[in-house]
Amino acid sequence: MARASKTAAGSKRKPGRIIVRYEPVRLAPSVRLTFTLGTLVLFLAVAIVACDRDKETVAKAQTQPSLPADVPLPKLSLPADVGPVPKFDSARAMKYVKEIVAFGPRPIGGANHKKVEDYITSHLKGDQVEDDAFTADTTEGKFPVRNIIAKFPGNKEGIIVVASHYDTNYPLRNTSYVGANDGASSSALLLELANQLRGKKLDGYSVWLVWDDAEEAMKEWSDTDSLYGIRHLAQKWQDDGTLKKVKAFLLADMIGDADLNIDRDLNSTPWLEAVVYDAATRLGNQSHFFGRENQVSDDHLPFMQRGIPSADLIDFNYGYNNVFWHTPQDTVDKLSPKSLEIIGTTILESIAILDKMDSLPPK
Ligand SMILES: [Zn+2]
Repeated sequence: MARASKTAAGSKRKPGRIIVRYEPVRLAPSVRLTFTLGTLVLFLAVAIVACDRDKETVAKAQTQPSLPADVPLPKLSLPADVGPVPKFDSARAMKYVKEIVAFGPRPIGGANHKKVEDYITSHLKGDQVEDDAFTADTTEGKFPVRNIIAKFPGNKEGIIVVASHYDTNYPLRNTSYVGANDGASSSALLLELANQLRGKKLDGYSVWLVWDDAEEAMKEWSDTDSLYGIRHLAQKWQDDGTLKKVKAFLLADMIGDADLNIDRDLNSTPWLEAVVYDAATRLGNQSHFFGRENQVSDDHLPFMQRGIPSADLIDFNYGYNNVFWHTPQDTVDKLSPKSLEIIGTTILESIAILDKMDSLPPK
């Protein structure tokens, strides 16, 4: 993943610039009397320099982009009883993260990528699985791309999609970069969600899990160099009529961080984020959600652009100032099974709420 707007309100709650202020020097009268002219000149020179530096620091701080006001979540009247507390095996999910990471870097077109494709499908034996495989014409040439979709049918008309990308950053392909949080954590999350959905007659919407491919930019993130897999899938579903049945699109990205703080994404659908927040609150997970606003370009955008209510669940502050993002430091030791459980159960609870709502609002 992904990109956050530079003017995002998310920076609001990041630690501010430290402004050094210089306190005036106070001297006792006896000391003042012993001041020589030279000392006075030196003192004034230092004071003037200090004053200028103070002004300069403040001026720099004032050139930071202005911060938008908080955008409150809409208040919804949601069903009270949505059934039992959802289950999620966090230890098993964490094991999946480690197994995916163990393949090494998984950029599109590589041998490791193929291994991860096989790894995902090997966990979906007996499920209704569909491929959306095609050749993407990227900035770095033509590459095979494969979205993997597992369908768990419900008894209510309509589909809720839960998605995660599984490729790793292409420009870092020749480093030790394994994307433990960025790609592996959410892909493992979906495998464990599949375990929870499997073999049940879902009393609600069908749930389709999508491991989408080629999310990462090949060179530099732009509308055309990113999201290759999900853009193809959204267009395909628009062309074949599937899209009309999609009631909501929930995206998980970078959700394994042990210090979990999911952004309130201003590119997502507010009412759907309100449902997610309500689900998190019912489970006691709300302190991990929406303490920071951001505006994120991610796999939900092609669905948002087609009018599908969408929410990106992403913690785009991975290490201080997002320092581990897209670096070889994105490793398993920064993650926590608890974070996977918080997101997994909150997604399942969100689906339970959506299932019980009379009708879902438009985007
Ligand atoms: Zn990424």
